[in-house]
Amino acid sequence: MGDLAPYATIDDFADLGVRAVITTRAAGSFSLAGDDPTGEVMTRWQALRSWLGVEGPGSRFATSVQVHGARVIWHQPGWEGWLRVDAADGHCSAQRGTGLGISVADCVPVFVAHPSGIVGLLHAGWRGTAARIVPGALAEMAEHGARPADLRIHLGPGICGACYRVGPDVYQQLTGRRVSAPASVDLRAILAEQVRECGVRSVTISPWCTRCDNAMFFSHRCGDSGRQVAALVATP
Ligand SMILES: [Zn+2]
Repeated sequence: MGDLAPYATIDDFADLGVRAVITTRAAGSFSLAGDDPTGEVMTRWQALRSWLGVEGPGSRFATSVQVHGARVIWHQPGWEGWLRVDAADGHCSAQRGTGLGISVADCVPVFVAHPSGIVGLLHAGWRGTAARIVPGALAEMAEHGARPADLRIHLGPGICGACYRVGPDVYQQLTGRRVSAPASVDLRAILAEQVRECGVRSVTISPWCTRCDNAMFFSHRCGDSGRQVAALVATP
């Protein structure tokens, strides 16, 4: 892998005291259903928790079994350890120190941060995007006092528009428009439009495409079984 760093930090929220990161191929796959031995995969997860500062007694790190749905978990304090929620694709927390993690390989990791320390991390492939997982999460964040106008959102490494062709049915679910043949869609452009419609003003989009930059990231459409992890935590 040459000099590829195992973690690519996302600096958009650093001044808010929020650490955000995505792992690269150099860190190895984080998939528990992939080809790598489970022990090695667990070691990678533990190293990431340690890097984030959410490992050890009293710490919280929330993940889930992802199902390409729109269910988002609002994590309260009062637990500790590594949580793996069943059937959820997004996580929010108002408690500094609660780490959030999702695994991806073409789907878009959506990082959300508010100056108060409220954070969110959503897994948005085409199904989640069509089901509006991100606007749903933003509505819940607003109920907790994080207004969209004050949020910062980063759309992380995912498949780009040039690399992603979908059939007419998926295209219509994503865009509302009919086509008669497979067509290209840019998930991150659609997600950016969704959040701007919610009133978010600060949106950045990663320059990386998991398929164009397949030497750096795992890509489902390139045939990879591996997964990288996107994670963030508002540091105490
Ligand atoms: Zn691409």
